Amino acid sequence: MKIRTRFAPSPTGYMHIGNLRTALYEYLIAKAQNGDFVLRIEDTDQKRYVEGATDIIYSTLKRVGMDWDEGPDIGGNFGPYVQSERKPLYAKYAHKLVELGGAHYCFCSADEADEQKDEQTNTKFVDPCKNLTLEEARKRIANGEPYVIRQTIHKKGTSVFHDVVYGDIEIDYDELDEGVLLKSDGFPTYNFANVVDDHLMEITHVVRGNEYISSTPKYNLIYEDFGWQAPVYVHVPPVMKDAQHKLSKRNGDASFQDLVAKGYLPEAILNYIALLGWNPGTEQEIFSLAELKQLFTAERLNKSPSIFDIAKLTWMNGCYIRNLSLADFHALAMPYYEKCITRKVNLEFLSSVLQKRVETLAEICPQTDFIETMPEYDVLLYQNKKMKTDEQIAKNSLVLALPVLEKVDVWTNENLFEVLKALAENNGLKNGQVLYPVRIALSGKETTPGGATELAVILGKDETINRIKQAIDKL
Ligand code: GLU
Repeated sequence: MKIRTRFAPSPTGYMHIGNLRTALYEYLIAKAQNGDFVLRIEDTDQKRYVEGATDIIYSTLKRVGMDWDEGPDIGGNFGPYVQSERKPLYAKYAHKLVELGGAHYCFCSADEADEQKDEQTNTKFVDPCKNLTLEEARKRIANGEPYVIRQTIHKKGTSVFHDVVYGDIEIDYDELDEGVLLKSDGFPTYNFANVVDDHLMEITHVVRGNEYISSTPKYNLIYEDFGWQAPVYVHVPPVMKDAQHKLSKRNGDASFQDLVAKGYLPEAILNYIALLGWNPGTEQEIFSLAELKQLFTAERLNKSPSIFDIAKLTWMNGCYIRNLSLADFHALAMPYYEKCITRKVNLEFLSSVLQKRVETLAEICPQTDFIETMPEYDVLLYQNKKMKTDEQIAKNSLVLALPVLEKVDVWTNENLFEVLKALAENNGLKNGQVLYPVRIALSGKETTPGGATELAVILGKDETINRIKQAIDKL
């Protein structure tokens, strides 16, 4: 049997990190066995619909390289792939389920149902309409009375199902509520649509958040009543912000787009979230999507919730940045340069220096701010024990360096380094006693993305000379 999985997001307008992780696991389960990965948009809750939200789903999956085999935009043999376009189907199956005894018509108003339910005492809604004969119910429908279709929990005892992550799960049928499957406007609830769609789309494995575990016996009952085969269940624990709180946009936590905007690479985010809940069984931490496709098995998913650790993601992002080709890094850095550097400087060289020193692209602007304008700085910065410099030594070195630098024609890092090293030697100074003051004179900062000569190459000859003169004046 061909493995078929589906990612079934609701169009909420952002890609929650936990949702993207679910998509990844769905994708990997399918792709590890040459199966199909289907994209289905669950938009039956029209109140929650957000304009442009499906585009975010498409662009996110594309950016991380999770191509889908079927979906709203590319079609497939099991479409339509948007639930609102499947509306008539749900009604057809809901009425059929009534005939099969797995559901019943209900004419109670939502208020009546709510009044009976009491979350605190766990009182369930006992539907008086359950006692209506099918004939009576149909007569009321023919008379134009509004109705919903509710599931009928007609079994007693304990329901048992197997979950790949959590093992065997037992839940008493008594605990299941007879929830609405088809609303009065003809739209299905999630509780019904997911079953109908997963069956019709021949989905073999369902990966979703563990908050759905308690409802799964209800879905299994629907599968059973129709005589359909239920899928393999892979429930995953939530991604946590800390031990108590789930990661959630409502708490101001980052979505995929937010992380990208903060300078994280899509590949690094994907790698990080793969490991948030999946244990490769080795020490390896850096995985490409292609490698994950080869190695992933759902059996190694963890039961315990994982905490989203931004420091770990940042570290991993740094690994990805360093592994880029210089040309690729430069292309990614360009939009940041365009934002914060208008001065004509050697950007290619800047990239070669920065690539080794930033862990996220967002560090580019703060690390390079001195390029655009020389910051105000205190001359005390020239005091450095390790470099054995103070204001006096610094001034002396800069005065010596100025004419030497003015004479340099081939303005490269190697040349400049040789020249300044020779200068130090000839004057009985340590390298640091020349290089450190030059670095401060060019940047006004204690930490810079490169050494003195690297900064000189980035700034170019004219600006370097200018800044050294200014520093001499200041000292
Ligand atoms: N639309 C549901 C959600 O976003 C999908 C759950 C499922 O995968 O069945 O939570």
